[in-house]
Amino acid sequence: MPTRQRNVAGVALQLPQRGEWWLFDCGEGTQHQILRSGALSLGQLTRVFITHMHGDHLFGLPGLLATGRLAGGSRRSHVYGPAGLSEYLQASWRSTAAEAESPVEIHELKSGEVYRDEGFTVSCLPLKHRVPAYGFRVSEHDRPGRFRAEEAAALGVPFGPLFGQLKRGETITLPDGQSVDGTTLCDPVEPGRAIVYSGDTTYCEAMIELAHDADVLIHEATFSEGDEDLARRSRHSTTTMAARVAAEAGARTLMLTHISPRYAPGTATTPDDLLREARAIFPQTELAHDFLTFEVPRRINRPHTPEERASI
Ligand SMILES: [Zn+2]
Ligand SMILES: [Zn+2]
Repeated sequence: MPTRQRNVAGVALQLPQRGEWWLFDCGEGTQHQILRSGALSLGQLTRVFITHMHGDHLFGLPGLLATGRLAGGSRRSHVYGPAGLSEYLQASWRSTAAEAESPVEIHELKSGEVYRDEGFTVSCLPLKHRVPAYGFRVSEHDRPGRFRAEEAAALGVPFGPLFGQLKRGETITLPDGQSVDGTTLCDPVEPGRAIVYSGDTTYCEAMIELAHDADVLIHEATFSEGDEDLARRSRHSTTTMAARVAAEAGARTLMLTHISPRYAPGTATTPDDLLREARAIFPQTELAHDFLTFEVPRRINRPHTPEERASI
């Protein structure tokens, strides 16, 4: 539930190179937080992904979409969520006579690939919560290194089939006896990054699979490790469950969120304690706070594999 310091679920993924952003979950008050963030414009929101049908992840959505319409957003927006989401939104629009104006397309989730374009793939897996709930993974595609054709030409390689061989990383011999190694003419691959968002779940194998090798894992940590039985009963996670998932998945950074209001500065267990619990298992842990911005670092470029060279 919201507190004076923390609002409910809502995570923005900014894609600055495209001038758009995506939203994951939309609890009550998310629209105001977007306005206050100073960095996000409603007109640039193109996709919304909802993990499950609990109000703290959902109650902000009808209002947010209505404002998007009022603002005259001409771009069609897409909303992805579990079975029941469409009915919920349709009912809300029907009762407020807004249905026909809605430029929103609703996609109900099935396990696996949810969305793909030239830069990203979004996939989801069902997790373990009190109602059907999904976690999302956004995977950026690897960017192949460019073949520097102009350098090949400068070396005297005649345009034609020899170019193809060099692109595939083969070594060729020119008519004058000079040999040219194709691998030296391809820029390295820029590996894609992955961010994973758990929504609500207790510890489960599917979460580890989803978070495999993720650059950032945004994971709920509703409870302290001392309240593990509460977490199991309500099918939420403790700090240590989240940290174990991050460690077992080989994630690089863990971002804890969805903290219960029972932990506040001055209470028996404080947010700092929660962070300590998780860091004892997974040192690269941070505790999210409202308006926290985290730039996902690019990975170190690596040489092409033979298959990649063949497809350049
Ligand atoms: Zn929930
Ligand atoms: Zn929740």
